[in-house]
Amino acid sequence: MRGAVLRDGRMVYRDDLPEPAPGPGQVLVAVRSCGICGSDLHFAAHGAEVLTLTAEMDGGMNIDLGRDIFMGHEFSAEVLEAGPDTDTFPAGTLITSIPVLISGKHVEPIVYSNTTLGGYAERMLLSAPLLLPIPNGLDAQHAALTEPMAVGLHAVNKSGVQAGETALVLGCGPIGIAVIAALRARGVEHIVGADFSAKRRELAASMGAHKSLDPAQGSPFDTVTPAVVFEAVGVPGIIDDVLRRARHGTRLVVVGVCMQPDTVHPFFAIAKEINVQFSLAYDPNEFADSLRAIAEGDIDVSPMITGDVGLEDVGAAFDDLADPDRHCKILVTP
Ligand SMILES: [Zn+2]
Repeated sequence: MRGAVLRDGRMVYRDDLPEPAPGPGQVLVAVRSCGICGSDLHFAAHGAEVLTLTAEMDGGMNIDLGRDIFMGHEFSAEVLEAGPDTDTFPAGTLITSIPVLISGKHVEPIVYSNTTLGGYAERMLLSAPLLLPIPNGLDAQHAALTEPMAVGLHAVNKSGVQAGETALVLGCGPIGIAVIAALRARGVEHIVGADFSAKRRELAASMGAHKSLDPAQGSPFDTVTPAVVFEAVGVPGIIDDVLRRARHGTRLVVVGVCMQPDTVHPFFAIAKEINVQFSLAYDPNEFADSLRAIAEGDIDVSPMITGDVGLEDVGAAFDDLADPDRHCKILVTP
C-alpha cells in the first residue's frame, strides 16, 4: 500500500506499507483527503522536543523517532469494510471522524505513531462508533477541514465571546483563520485579524474578519480595544505583550502552540484582572458541529485550500508550507 511517512525529519514516500486489517469495532477506510497540519510540520522539525516535553508531564508518547512515523489527522474517507462483529455504514459512505483509534480497551490518538496509520496513506483504520457520515453532498476535500475548523470552534467556545464584543485574533495561519471563521459563524460583529503576511490578512478578510491589521505598522491594540484576544501565533513574547496592552478584564485565549519557555509579567495580568485560558483541540460534539457548519454553508472553507498533492509529494508540500504568503492548507489526495 502507498503512503508517506516521517523518517529522519523528512516525509518519505513508500509503496510497501502493510495493509491494515480492521479488528472488532474498527472499520477499514480509503482516505479521500487529508490536510497537512502545522503540528505535523512541527513534529517533523522538532519531534524530539515534543517527546521530551510530553514525557515531563505524564508518561509521554511511546514513539521511536528512529523508526518510520505515521501522521495525518485531518481526513475524510470512504468506508470499505468493517471488522469482525462490527456494524457500520455501507461501503462507499463518505465519512470523517475525530482522529482516535479504539483497539479493545486501548484508545490511541491518530496523530503521531510508529504503528497506527494516519491519513497520509491510501487506507487506514477508524473506530466504528466515532464515524460521522458527511452530509449534504459536501465534497471530501472540504470535509477534511472539519478537524482544523473544530480547533477554532473550541477556542471560540472557551472564550464565551458575545456577538457585540470585539475579538482580536493574533496570527492568521490555519488556526487563527479557523478562529475567525468560528467567530463569524457565531455572529460576532467586530472581528479583527492581525498578521505580518499580506496574503494571510487577505484570507482573514475572506474568512470573516471585518478588519485586518499589519503588526509591522503598529500594535493592533493601538487600533482596537478587544474584549477577547485569541493568541494564534505561538512564539515567545506574545502573551506578555497582550497582558501589557490589553484593557482591564480582557479574556485571552491561547490557541497557538509555543514550544519554548516564555516569560510573562504577572503584574500586568493582576493589575487588569486578565483571564488567560489555554485551549487545545475540541470535544466530539464540537467536531460534529464543525462538520455541520461546513456542510450547511455557515463556513466556506474553500479559500483556505491553497494546494493539493499526491502521496509522492507530501515532503515537498511540507517545505512549501513554510512560506506564509503561498499557503494556508495543503490537502493530500492519496
Ligand atoms: Zn491539526
